[in-house]
Amino acid sequence: MNVDSSKAKRIAVIGGGISGLAAAHRIVELDPKVELALFEASDRLGGVIQTEQHDGFLVERGGDMFTTREPWALELCQRIGFEDQLINTNAAQRRAFIVRQGKLVEVPQGFTLMSPSRLWPILTTPLLSVAGKLRLAKEIYLPAKSTREDESLASFAIRRFGQQTFERIIQPMIGGIYTADPTKLSMAATMSQFVEMEQEHGSVIRGMRKKNKQKTERASGARYGMFLAPRAGLSSLIQAIADRLPKNCIQLNTPLESLRRDRQGWRLGFAGKAKEQIYDGVVLCTPARHSSCFLQPIDKELAATIDQISSASAAVVLIGLHRKSIQHPLNGFGFIVPAVERRRILAGSFSSVKFENRARPDEVLLRIFVGGALQEKLLELDDDEIKKLVFEEVRELIGVRGAPLFCDVARWHQGMPQYHVGHLELVAQIEKRVAKISGLELAGNAYRGVGIPFCVHSGEQAAARVLGITPS
Ligand SMILES: Cc1cc2nc3c(=O)[nH]c(=O)nc-3n(C[C@H](O)[C@H](O)[C@H](O)COP(=O)(O)OP(=O)(O)OC[C@H]3O[C@@H](n4cnc5c(N)ncnc54)[C@H](O)[C@@H]3O)c2cc1C
Repeated sequence: MNVDSSKAKRIAVIGGGISGLAAAHRIVELDPKVELALFEASDRLGGVIQTEQHDGFLVERGGDMFTTREPWALELCQRIGFEDQLINTNAAQRRAFIVRQGKLVEVPQGFTLMSPSRLWPILTTPLLSVAGKLRLAKEIYLPAKSTREDESLASFAIRRFGQQTFERIIQPMIGGIYTADPTKLSMAATMSQFVEMEQEHGSVIRGMRKKNKQKTERASGARYGMFLAPRAGLSSLIQAIADRLPKNCIQLNTPLESLRRDRQGWRLGFAGKAKEQIYDGVVLCTPARHSSCFLQPIDKELAATIDQISSASAAVVLIGLHRKSIQHPLNGFGFIVPAVERRRILAGSFSSVKFENRARPDEVLLRIFVGGALQEKLLELDDDEIKKLVFEEVRELIGVRGAPLFCDVARWHQGMPQYHVGHLELVAQIEKRVAKISGLELAGNAYRGVGIPFCVHSGEQAAARVLGITPS
């Protein structure tokens, strides 16, 4: 590390989501003398992370947890002394359901995202027919693809496991995470571990079984033991990071409007401010479409490449209910809905079962996901229409009866970047061009991972680079 210590650098971070906050925090961690400013367009920090209180319910309007599979979010929590605020998912109920012909069926134990690691649960699941199970089992003997060319989730999953396993299990599991169109979603950018298993072991199932010999967690769906959340919700992590930044460096309600460079440095223009501000370095942590606009006058080709990363919109409908208003035993963390079921919701999370402290003991908090790349049109409905269709769905699926204690719709317009086939090449091109522009860095969920740990990593790496330090 060789930061020039003679003169304090002036660095601006644009965007106060988790990526921007992680970048800002890392900048002061690496060089406390930096004159740092963080500009956020809206009146609050957090971006798509937003926790609210509603009369006894602790409501996450966006994401609600992060994985420790990638260490960066947990490591940040440890460095800022926030680790003691983190809670695990409820160990007694670590299972998930998939909708099959209108009923909730447990995800077979040991089935992780794409592949079974245990034989008996998949042989006995009512989710697949005998023919579907035989086709799934054939995966063990299928030859690996000879080329390493990127392909879509649908193409990979159907090729390896067959149409039925894809449609009834894999599509909702992975499509749910990315709210994606599986015929477009890049395997290389999102599920490369399975591509590697195919290449290394000749079969994903064999690869999974080998890997899982060392692990003992008995769960269905995601590996829930690997997920954490702050007891007081994700916004408390946002606040904890913000609290560790220099006083007065955060400017809310200050949208960046223009960006240009001259001999003095980077000139930033903000809405409502006549005078441009000058910085030595800028870290753009805004959604791709915004970053693309700012970069138009700097590098048209770069702007056009970033603009190719599209995003999907989604809504989360938040419902507080008396426990007795739901017939389902709620003995899991929630359910996912395959597209072939032709319903109008993507998934439902039993939030207050998954984490403590989300509702009073006799009450339940549900989070129902709507929209995404396959059903974006639903977001054209107004809030009352969305609530109505969601209630029709949860009435049929989990037997919700009576009026809710509260209900709200959180809309995330273009909030989910879509990593289409070829995404990694696009990102490589973007990174190559950005590397040629001195004092400019990009970070955020549009590039190398949408999950919170990836955003933290992206922000922290950009922070090191803008200071002239090779990221570790
Ligand atoms: C519904 C939903 C559920 C999710 N669930 C999870 C989950 O459970 N776990 C998980 O790990 N991930 C989850 N994710 C993904 C993860 O939360 C996001 O990818 C991540 O929070 C994005 O952070 P970010 O800082 O990159 O972007 P954002 O949060 O979008 O932040 C960008 C910020 O830039 C600001 N901005 C925009 N334009 C300007 C401008 N001109 N000037 C200044 N500021 C500007 C915006 O106002 C915003 O605050 C979820 C995402 C969504 C939408």
